[in-house]
Amino acid sequence: MIAMAAAELGFVLICAVLMATILRPTLASPTTTSVVDQIRELEGVTAGRIRTDAAATALASTDFGTNASSVDAARPAAVFYPSSAADIAALLRASSASASPFPVSARGCGHSTGGQATAPGGVVVDMASLGRSADGPSVARLAVSVHGRYIDAGGEQLWVDVLHAALAHGLTPRSWTDYLHLTVGGTLSNAGISGQAFRHGPQISNVLELDVVTGTGEMVTCSKEKQADLFDAVLGGLGQFGLITRARIPLVPAPARARWVRLLYADAAALTSDQERLIAERGALAGVMDYVEGSVLTDSQGLIGSWRSQPPSSFFSEGDAARVAALAKEAGGVLYCLEGAVYYGGAADTTAADVDKGLEVMLRELRYARGFAFVQDVSYVEFLDRVRAGELKLRAAGLWDVPHPWLNLFLPRSSILDFAAGVFHGVMLRRGGGTMMGPVLVYPMNRRGWDGAMSAVFPEDDGDEVFYTVGILRSAVAAGDLARMEAQNAEVARFCADAGIPCTQYLPSYATQAEWAARHFGPGRWDRFARRKRKYDPNAILSRGQRIFSYPLAA
Ligand code: FAD
Repeated sequence: MIAMAAAELGFVLICAVLMATILRPTLASPTTTSVVDQIRELEGVTAGRIRTDAAATALASTDFGTNASSVDAARPAAVFYPSSAADIAALLRASSASASPFPVSARGCGHSTGGQATAPGGVVVDMASLGRSADGPSVARLAVSVHGRYIDAGGEQLWVDVLHAALAHGLTPRSWTDYLHLTVGGTLSNAGISGQAFRHGPQISNVLELDVVTGTGEMVTCSKEKQADLFDAVLGGLGQFGLITRARIPLVPAPARARWVRLLYADAAALTSDQERLIAERGALAGVMDYVEGSVLTDSQGLIGSWRSQPPSSFFSEGDAARVAALAKEAGGVLYCLEGAVYYGGAADTTAADVDKGLEVMLRELRYARGFAFVQDVSYVEFLDRVRAGELKLRAAGLWDVPHPWLNLFLPRSSILDFAAGVFHGVMLRRGGGTMMGPVLVYPMNRRGWDGAMSAVFPEDDGDEVFYTVGILRSAVAAGDLARMEAQNAEVARFCADAGIPCTQYLPSYATQAEWAARHFGPGRWDRFARRKRKYDPNAILSRGQRIFSYPLAA
């Protein structure tokens, strides 16, 4: 009897090893084998929703920043395709119950640029599958309450779909990202910023309620009124405390159209003082703009070219392009662009005539280079979804799926001009920034829109209401670009350290816990972040791709 049982057991073990080998030809380490075996024990819950093949695991180890050489190091043992929050909870409970808990990370679209959505050796949860039914077609998990003025959106939903669902009822969220093909859970795990943040705060400040599955597999509904500590932890929490399966986003009446303005400047001081006038609560220009951003142009021809691709029709004529090139030359190779938009029509209580009156005052007051104001009139949707046209163009040219060594920073207002002189006119020109592809953004935000109880890190309060964000958003398209861009990013960091400019990374990426604690969070914030981790994910299961915590957590 015992001999038979032993023989059967031996047979089962051989089958398990064979299955693992067939299913995962590239994965042979004992750790990944044991992870796959543990997940297979969940078969009742996960039937047909786990893949361990090389195609699935390779895809889940890449992201928008991918440097191909990092793929193998980031490879998960499996990819999990849940059909409900309960499936995710079962997966997390299985990991928690294990003697060696395996890592689990949510993957929205993988638009991170530093492996943040990966789960090396563990399980990546493909969030998009929450929105798919068993037979394939997409099930939109988007429910608008017209009476309550909110939308309940699945964590896997794209912001562009949230927009269209809300617009069907004449409503819209208020705070956006520049690009809408990002997931609700993905941007809420960071902050979600764009040119509306100065007035409404980042997207994390525009959430009423969340459904979260914590690291222990508990399913919790939280808000500022209920389980507020978890709510605050998850918003801007870099995926460390739970997976967001639903977010309730407040809505307001939607405008129909946008006047979209671009003004060119020959110097940073004029640009930033004008941006600050536009985002101020008081003054002649307060409230004129609904959206305020800005960018740095170190390659006027190239940037004008890529701008042209974005709006439905061009901002510039051929004649304008020649004039802009001459202005750039005069300004020493660096120009600045203030980008703004005013919404009107639809449910907004302003008309085109009101907008024109406001713009007239604004154009008189601002200090842009005279003769270099460009205005377009587009629909509200065309304005919000403006990056999509550029994406499609880059995809068609094979220039979208390339490495993106992005650097996003928050800086105190008191440092922005020193930063501009040292980086835009120094590092970037020296390093041939003008030949690098991709925009460089610079715009201010108001501190009052940010909530210090949430996990997102923004500059320490220095008594100034305004702080800046700078995004150096490069695409490495040619041989040698990636190394050049990474060297430029390192030089920017060195410049800030040498000049004593305290910069905080947005969409942060660090390699060790010591760096996260000292360079990103600082002592007070780190203590709170680590305490919340011990409470909501005590086995350090979630989002190990961020490289903040490892198992076991330090006491
Ligand atoms: P992923 O990259 O898949 O995930 C990001 C992190 O969040 C990971 O740690 C992941 O584990 C975690 N995560 C994902 N889903 C969930 C969930 N449901 N619950 C809990 N954790 C989760 N950001 C801005 O703020 N403003 C911009 O204007 C902006 N523009 C962008 C433009 C482009 C072209 C791109 C590629 C990115 C842009 N981003 C911008 C950055 C974007 O916010 C981040 O990439 C963000 O991570 C969202 O991407 P994602 O939905 O694909 O999430």
